[in-house]
Formats: sequence, C-alpha cells, structure tokens
Amino acid sequence: MLQPPHSPLQVAAVPARRVPGRDRDQDDPWHTDAVCRRDEAGLFFAPSKEPTAARLSREEAAKRVCARCPVMVECREHALLQPEPYGVWGGLTAAERRVVLARRRRRDVELQKTVRGADRIAQAG
Ligand code: SF4
Repeated sequence: MLQPPHSPLQVAAVPARRVPGRDRDQDDPWHTDAVCRRDEAGLFFAPSKEPTAARLSREEAAKRVCARCPVMVECREHALLQPEPYGVWGGLTAAERRVVLARRRRRDVELQKTVRGADRIAQAG
C-alpha cells in the first residue's frame, strides 16, 4: 500500500518510476508534487481521542492544504481505490470518501440493471 505523501521520508520510499506489470497507482509519481510533503502529517491524521471540535478544525485546515494541491484529483482517486481508511486525502475525510464510494456502488448497480434490461429487450426483439 502506498504511504501517505504527508511525510518526506515516506515519499522518498515510493518509487518514482513506473514498473511494467505493477499497479499503476503504486508507480505514478503524483505524490512527488504533493503540497502536503511540506506540512505536518498530524494535520491529515487524527491523534487518538481527538475532541470533535479539534477534529473538525484540523480537517478543515488539511482541506485548505488540499485545495491548493496540484495532484488533488490523483490523490483522491488513489484514496478511493485503495481504499484508504484513515486521514484526509484529496480534500476528503474518511467519512466523506465512504459516502463517495457508496454513491459509486449504487451507480454501478443501477448501470448493471440498465444493461441487463437492455440485453433482455435485445434478446426478445
Ligand atoms: S490532495 Fe491533500 S492529501 Fe493529497 S497529496 Fe495533495 S495535499 Fe496531500
């Protein structure tokens, strides 16, 4: 699993060159442009027993960093595809990512129903 780009040491450990046959996301160098490489990892991940008001404030601060990040889309898709269970990634909290994933699953189910219906109509016709 790709480590969050929030720490320079973690970023340095991730290969910057794509290797054939490996997962594309693992080898994409999007994280080298991550704005959060210069910020504290603590801004993006909750300490234990964090009070709600402090969490909301910290997450908003992390989202402000994400909003000026040139790789926000890549980061968000990475976090959704893994899926990353913790922290702010691509401007979304873990709870917000769960909502996006649930919407995508519902959309996929509806799409499959539509395709099956179209197949039945085509076979009957
Ligand atoms: S979008 Fe946010 S979490 Fe993702 S790399 Fe950029 S600053 Fe870091």
